Amino acid sequence: MSVYWNERVRRLSPYVPGEQPRDRKFIKLNTNENPYPPSPKVIEAIGRAAGDGLRLYPDPACTELREAAARRYGVRPEQVFAGNGSDEVLAFAFGAFFEGAAAGPVLFPDITYSFYPVYAALWNISFRTIPLTEDFSVNVEDYRTPAGGVVLPNPNAPTGRALSAQEITSMLEYHAPYHKVVIIDEAYAAFGAESMVPRTNKYPNLLTVHTLSKSASLAGLRAGLAIGNEELIGGLCRIRDSFNSYTVDRLAQAGAAAALSDAAYYDEINRRIIASRERVSAGLAELGFTVIPSAANFIFVRSPRMGGADLFVRLRERGILVRHFNKPRIGDFLRISIGSGKEMDALLEACGEILK
Ligand code: PMP
Repeated sequence: MSVYWNERVRRLSPYVPGEQPRDRKFIKLNTNENPYPPSPKVIEAIGRAAGDGLRLYPDPACTELREAAARRYGVRPEQVFAGNGSDEVLAFAFGAFFEGAAAGPVLFPDITYSFYPVYAALWNISFRTIPLTEDFSVNVEDYRTPAGGVVLPNPNAPTGRALSAQEITSMLEYHAPYHKVVIIDEAYAAFGAESMVPRTNKYPNLLTVHTLSKSASLAGLRAGLAIGNEELIGGLCRIRDSFNSYTVDRLAQAGAAAALSDAAYYDEINRRIIASRERVSAGLAELGFTVIPSAANFIFVRSPRMGGADLFVRLRERGILVRHFNKPRIGDFLRISIGSGKEMDALLEACGEILK
């Protein structure tokens, strides 16, 4: 605490991101980055953008990037918002569409992306967490109840379980008459969940959020998108333009647009990640692990022989970083990102030795 902090800052309990080690070389399976490099076309586009043009502010409307996204997703550019990573897009969406207690609490699972309660606190939004079922599934009926809105990752993080588009549709239909927004965070959808984007025209209360950090191998670039009806996009622009008109710089706009235009490259690397996920899930199951079926680029696992905190430390000693959440219900689990084939071989070998 500091005497200089205002009441708002005192009240915050900020999100703590996964470790980005700088001192030692780890096999890094803790923040769901893509093990493959970005498309060569992305690097070329950033190279072209890294010139004299940097004297000038970037296009505040991110026109080329939004056009590339629109082509990729079969929507209109007016239905696309671009931001500095999907964390920023989500923060803006909470600020634009959700409110305090009078509007009813925003609903999200008890076990989900831990940034959601942080955004809620930042904007004074009331929320209610809904427990996942025993097997860590989202029960859609729990979300068909009066509320200020819904936010849900699909697939969920850190469990990796996905809902069908039809299940999400039933939430959208419930909340539509009350004009309550349902945010579907598709950070990991490219690894196996059905995207809601094709339903954008049908559901004006649907906002689908995408990131280029995971499936486009661009966590270092910071680019995220929201796809939704023009009124929702307009709300996001109003928040952005009350904060910082230039959140996406020239290099990020160029690189992200190139990534969205090279589906063939990304389909191939992400297909490899999915194949690797299935292989590692089977390998860990053979070692006795419980492995939650994942539609993401990570798996959520528990060993009956060692607690999550201990296994985290033992893997770290061997140079393998994974993610452990010291939280109710999931303290015995580890979230393991799917790395390259070699990295996953090292993980399987280390787990085998530790649990021998
Ligand atoms: N949503 C979920 C569910 C995530 O796990 C993450 C990554 N931490 C994000 C959004 C944010 O990703 P980024 O800001 O890199 O786009």
